[in-house]
Amino acid sequence: MSSRPPIAPALLSWHAHAGRHDLPWQQDPTAYRVWVSEIMLQQTQVTTVIPYYLRFMARFPDVGTLAAAPVDEVLHLWSGLGYYARARNLHRAAVRIRDDYGGAFPQDFEQVAALPGIGRSTAGAILALACQQRYPILDGNARRVLARYFGVEGGPADAAALKALWAHAEEQTPAAGVARYTQAIMDLGATVCVRRRPLCSECPLAAHCSACASGRQHEIPAPRRAAARRRREVYMVVALKGSGEVLLERRPESGVWGGLWCLPQFETQTAAADFIEESLVPREAPQPLTPVEHGFTHFDLSITPLLVHCGGEAAGVGEGEALWYNIRTPARVGLPAPITTLLAGLARDTLFSRTVED
Ligand code: SF4
Repeated sequence: MSSRPPIAPALLSWHAHAGRHDLPWQQDPTAYRVWVSEIMLQQTQVTTVIPYYLRFMARFPDVGTLAAAPVDEVLHLWSGLGYYARARNLHRAAVRIRDDYGGAFPQDFEQVAALPGIGRSTAGAILALACQQRYPILDGNARRVLARYFGVEGGPADAAALKALWAHAEEQTPAAGVARYTQAIMDLGATVCVRRRPLCSECPLAAHCSACASGRQHEIPAPRRAAARRRREVYMVVALKGSGEVLLERRPESGVWGGLWCLPQFETQTAAADFIEESLVPREAPQPLTPVEHGFTHFDLSITPLLVHCGGEAAGVGEGEALWYNIRTPARVGLPAPITTLLAGLARDTLFSRTVED
């Protein structure tokens, strides 16, 4: 299919001296450990993932412990890592592995790829890295390396380009040393053939690389078209009881922070005030706190917290699940990172400490 030399020999010899060999999931690389790492690494840098991975493995060392845990605890350990559907799917898949496969991670490609949250590339990575089965991968790193080496034009949404890249991935993946090859192409994409300013002078593929020869590394693969960044402003009610409990609601599974517990959120200050009047027993007028800014991939969120001291139980709070969360003895549930920071700040605040009755 290709007139260029196969990449595996050069990649394997490069990886022996320049690849990454001491990542936590490379130690005892069982299918379970590799799976969790691959899911965490989607859209997320290695350095960010490592502490989350270590905490996750300490609490959930195997499929059985993960399947038996409440999803809230899984989300709690995921808090701050983002893309929370990944955590919910991980938990769902663990339950299915327990129920359908007796707790043993399946080793058949079709069965692995059918688990929630696992696509073709992730299934290939798990089976290649943990089980030495010859399956190609095409994660973001492998895609970039192959696109540049073979000069495959087109962006991530280009179906013809994707098909050509899968064909290259299939052809290049060796039968012998498939685990080392898979790690090597991921490492090359993460450390040398990086998106901006690839280090071609250090690359083992440079002699035959199409993009390098034509000086088009910055055009291949075609960059995503940057969407105009939006800014969104919301109000969140910090309903605080004298016991130090704050009202939280569970967010719907679709949308940002899906399944996490969050402060009741409103589009306008009037809607927040109506909620306070109708659903809580306020002791005073709500007090706006310093706005919190949070950046998502495609938009910026500005949150104005409205602190309201209230007494008794809330009546008819929201449509969904509600929880009074004690900031002194926090429950192990998943909270969005800015809400964790906000509540921790409130707990430390001297004004707050004085108003909470012991
Ligand atoms: S030579 Fe440059 S563009 Fe080509 S694969 Fe290596 S780092 Fe990427």
